[in-house]
Amino acid sequence: TSWFNKSEFIPPDAIFALTAKFQADSSPQKVNLGQGTYRDADAKPWVLPSVNLAREALLTRGLQHEYLPILGLQSFREGTAKIVLGSELFDKRATQIATCQSLSGTGALHLAGLLLRATQNKQPTVYIPEPTWSNHHQVFKSLGFPCESFKYYDYETKSLDIDSYYNMLKQAEPNSVVILHACAHNPTGCDPTKEQWREIAQVMKARELFPLFDAAYLGFNSGDYDEDAFPIRLFMGEMDMEAGVCISFAKNMGLYGERVGCFLLGTKDEQGAVNLQSMLEMLQRSEVSNPPGFGAKIASEVLGNDSLKEQWFQDMETMSSRIRAMRAALYDNLIASGAPGSWDHLIQQSGMFGFLGLSLDVVLRLRDEYHIYMADNSRISIAGLNTGNVEYVARSITECLR
Ligand code: PLP
Repeated sequence: TSWFNKSEFIPPDAIFALTAKFQADSSPQKVNLGQGTYRDADAKPWVLPSVNLAREALLTRGLQHEYLPILGLQSFREGTAKIVLGSELFDKRATQIATCQSLSGTGALHLAGLLLRATQNKQPTVYIPEPTWSNHHQVFKSLGFPCESFKYYDYETKSLDIDSYYNMLKQAEPNSVVILHACAHNPTGCDPTKEQWREIAQVMKARELFPLFDAAYLGFNSGDYDEDAFPIRLFMGEMDMEAGVCISFAKNMGLYGERVGCFLLGTKDEQGAVNLQSMLEMLQRSEVSNPPGFGAKIASEVLGNDSLKEQWFQDMETMSSRIRAMRAALYDNLIASGAPGSWDHLIQQSGMFGFLGLSLDVVLRLRDEYHIYMADNSRISIAGLNTGNVEYVARSITECLR
């Protein structure tokens, strides 16, 4: 008998499977609104000008391919902490933070999980919004955490259910972990207001809940990095709380495949930060030994050079404003084509995704009959829209709803 006779088939990840289906579709009309990757106005992947300039500078200086330190590239870790916290808060808390370069945002979440597990006697419950990014449960379950979903979104009103959110916070056992999408909530596009963030922070602080930010879209959401980093700075600055931040440069620098990320932990005291830094180093060593160099060098170049950073800010504005324009265009075309019902939710959302609120039947009809691919829950990646296809998409949705 085989050593592996207890192995079972695990269905492929839904969103990657959807991309494969799209690629296999030979229709010239096909539209990919599945995976959350930025596309330009011609539906092509976009290398950010700031990233191109940084790469050229690196190549001119000459690249080595030596190991990075276990914790990653020091200039990248410091540049990341500075941009995420803002220079004022960074200066204030520099000695109270630990950072570790990670395998993009997913790796940062995993590293956060390893550390949170290693620092508690009893493995805490992880509270995860429903709906959420498809990988959250998997990452934390794979590390043995009990995971609890809480209602984040009201499918009737198509908006954030803030009362349910507050209720969960008031009932969660102290020392639990709460996953917070820092901005551009995936998949709903609905974030708390600044006032609501304040309330969330106050309740979490009073109830001793640990905030773990998933920060995959900073600067990509509004086009303004500081604006998008507001909740992180609120918790760690004004509210003086401990927090973890899982940072990805996949979307906001377009470095999807280079796996550039960082886990940042803000703690209370300096010795604590030193200890946690040493634990991160040990955890990283046993899993990846040394994080990959190339993407981190590019990001570090962008973060450490004023003119490249300025270009990057412009690039984020370019991406987020095109997405905003396409969100508005889809809304306008839905209205113009007489799509039944209200579509106000679409323009109230922000970020990369539109959460349309279509039934699975409609989603599958759009896929099978119209060659329009979106996630089963009718989340669309708005970056897949452009002036050449938005009218077709709106018209097709309208036809399916009639
Ligand atoms: N978190 C959220 C909410 C995301 O949407 C994503 C990517 O889609 C990630 C984390 C992690 O992405 P990556 O590991 O590519 O940085």
